[in-house]
Amino acid sequence: MAINILISDPLSEDGIYPLRQEKELDLNIDIKTGLQPEELKAIIANYDVLLVRSQTKVTRDIIEAADNLKLIGRAGVGVDNIDLEAATEKGIIVVNAPDGNTNSAAEHTTAMIFALARHIPQAFITLKEGRWDRKKFVGVELKNKTLGVIGFGRIGQEVAHRAKGNRMNVIAYDPFLTAEKAEKAGVDYGSVEDVAKVADFITVHTPLLDSTRHMINEDIFNVMKDGVRIINCARGGIIDEEALYNAIESGKVAGAALDVMEEEPFVGNRLLDLPQVIATPHLGASTVEAQESVAVDVSNDILSYFNV
Ligand code: NAD
Repeated sequence: MAINILISDPLSEDGIYPLRQEKELDLNIDIKTGLQPEELKAIIANYDVLLVRSQTKVTRDIIEAADNLKLIGRAGVGVDNIDLEAATEKGIIVVNAPDGNTNSAAEHTTAMIFALARHIPQAFITLKEGRWDRKKFVGVELKNKTLGVIGFGRIGQEVAHRAKGNRMNVIAYDPFLTAEKAEKAGVDYGSVEDVAKVADFITVHTPLLDSTRHMINEDIFNVMKDGVRIINCARGGIIDEEALYNAIESGKVAGAALDVMEEEPFVGNRLLDLPQVIATPHLGASTVEAQESVAVDVSNDILSYFNV
C-alpha cells in the first residue's frame, strides 16, 4: 500500500533524496507549500506523513482532521509549531532533527561575535551613506578576552571550541556541566553569576523554558563587567529585552548581537534603534548545508519508522 507523504514547507530537494531514492516502499511524495490552514485541514486525512519546517502551524485542529497520519517530521530543532499534546493524544509520532543546525548556528554566533567586536555592520552602513569614518569604529580584539557561554549543549560547545581557536578564554554555565566535561572541553565553569562577573562577551545557548525565560535579567546585568557585549542566537525571551535596553542605555553593555527576539518578526523593535545593537532576522540555521542536513535527518527518520 502506498505511503502518502505531504511536504508542506519548502525543503531542500537534496535533503529529501533518501525518500526519493527509496525503492522498497511505495512512497508517494506531494509537495504543497504555502497552504492556508483550511486547505491543509481539508487534505491532511489523505496522508500518512507530514513533513514541515517552521512555517506550517500543525495545530490541534489540523491534527484532529489527520485520520491517517502516523508521523510528523520537523526539519529543524524547535517543535513549537506543532501541538505535541494533540499529536500524542492521536498516537502520532513527532520527530525533529536536533543536530543538523548545530554547525550553522555556531558559525553564525561566531560571526556575530566578530561583527560586534569590530562594528562591521555599523561601519558598512556609514560607507553606504557616503562617509569615511575610521575613528568611530575602533574595535576590540577577541584574543585574551573571556567568553561566557550560558547553556553548554550542542551549539554552546561548538561556539566555545571556535572561541578557543580565536584565543579567547571560555567560562560556561549549564546545570548539567560537570568538572570532567569542562576540563575535557578546556573551559572554566561556574554559576550564571560567576560567568556574568568575569565575561567580556556573553552568549546564550539554552532552550526557551520557564526556567530560562528572562534568566539574563536586570540582576544579572548588574553583576556584569562594564562594557560587556551580549549575543543571543538561541531564542528570544532568554534575555529580558527591557533590561537589555536599559543596560545598553546606561553604558553597562557596550553592544548586543541578536538573531532572535521575544516577538518575531522583530522589525520595529526599539532595540534596533540603538546604535550598539546589531541583528539578523533569525538566520542562525539558514545555510544550504543546514537545510539539507535537517531534511536528510528527518527523511531517514521516516524511513526508520517504516522499517527500511
Ligand atoms: P541543546 O539541547 O543541545 O543544548 C541546550 C543546553 O541548555 C543543554 O545543555 C541544557 O542542559 C542547557 N540548559 C537547559 N536549561 C538551562 C538553564 N536553566 N541554564 C543554563 N543552561 C541550561 O540545544 P542546542 O541544539 O545547543 O540549541 C540551543 C538553542 O539554540 C535552542 O534554544 C535552539 O532552539 C536554538 N537554535 C537557534 C537557531 C537559530 O536559528 N538562531 C538554530 C538552532 C538552534
